[in-house]
Amino acid sequence: MAGRNFLFVPGPTNVPDRVLRAMVVSMEDHRSPDFPQITTQITEGLKRVFKTKNGTPFVFPSSGTGCWEAALTNTLSPGDLVLAARFGQFSHLWIDMCQRLGLEVDIVDCEWGTGVPLDIYRERLTADTDRKIKAVLVCHNETATGVTSDVAGVRRILDEVNHPALLFVDCVSSLASIDLRFDEWGIDMAVSGSQKGLMLPAGLGILCASPKALGSRHTAQLKRSYFDLDAMITSNSTGYYPYTPALSLLYGLIESLKMIEEEGLDNIILRHHYLAAGVRAAVQQGWKLGLCAKSPVWYSDTVSAIMVPEGINGVDVIARAYNRYNLSLGAGLSRVAGKLFRIGHLGDMNEVHLMAAIAGAEMAMLDCGIRVEPGSGVAAASEYWRNI
Ligand code: PLP
Repeated sequence: MAGRNFLFVPGPTNVPDRVLRAMVVSMEDHRSPDFPQITTQITEGLKRVFKTKNGTPFVFPSSGTGCWEAALTNTLSPGDLVLAARFGQFSHLWIDMCQRLGLEVDIVDCEWGTGVPLDIYRERLTADTDRKIKAVLVCHNETATGVTSDVAGVRRILDEVNHPALLFVDCVSSLASIDLRFDEWGIDMAVSGSQKGLMLPAGLGILCASPKALGSRHTAQLKRSYFDLDAMITSNSTGYYPYTPALSLLYGLIESLKMIEEEGLDNIILRHHYLAAGVRAAVQQGWKLGLCAKSPVWYSDTVSAIMVPEGINGVDVIARAYNRYNLSLGAGLSRVAGKLFRIGHLGDMNEVHLMAAIAGAEMAMLDCGIRVEPGSGVAAASEYWRNI
């Protein structure tokens, strides 16, 4: 098909040309005396992105899922109790991993389209007088439903009830795009990946660990090998990795960290909010459709999950957008399969770029029999962005 593909899945995201070029490097000796400066640049840059001075970032040749495992296995023991809310495919999969690793999970099932229920977390943590809960999981941005949860609120509750549980945050689709403050919010393990806000291809699992989380690895009994932080800590301390690092991606990461510094992390967070609000204007005021997110407190600034009307299959809209307009939209996953399509608005993105997704989704919806007003999404987004 002529013309470029317009990639609007909520990860992998568009990789800026600068980052693509930075990754075109000859291979080099990852045990050379020059190598440690690569590791240092990455560690320092990631600390700024996580907003941490106390935390230690780690980079694994893996995807985000690998770092879910690293967070759990380096801190917990078989049978340990974990508190977790389930409200979408990714919060579900993290819980599923906990169970497969032999952890007990106190699952708080919530309506999809909502997020972490602070009142229920407070109840469970208050009732846990024996301090059986060892870790509390928060999926900061549930990519499947376009829902953002209040991590700071969970920290407040832990502090209020003086509960020592570790706070684990999945920030795969929020890092470098939605506000996340590792130190200020007392996060113990933050799990992310390269292919979303960091604007890289998939292939790096990114983890940040607090001193308390690192301390618990001395007693944690879950089995670990590839994701053992001991090996990473030993090698990283001299500027190296315990096994062959994904060199091209590391060069890409250095470049994307430079881009983040140049724009300014807080400006990037504001840009994501502003772009997301324009998409929401297109959906709600233009197309008169609903979001999966049940109310504004849950709205995600990195992905919008758009409900299709009864009788229409979201899969058809996505297929039409791809086959006819070369536009990649995100699918509904698991329980919401067919009920929605998603527009990812994170990473290297601006208004005009996003207009392609809005215009293309509108054409695909019309082709599939959804009676939106032609041009209404583009008009509503343009009104919002021009007048803000
Ligand atoms: N958590 C969230 C919120 C995600 O969106 C994803 C992937 O999209 C994952 C975890 C899993 O990450 P990965 O696909 O990099 O393993």
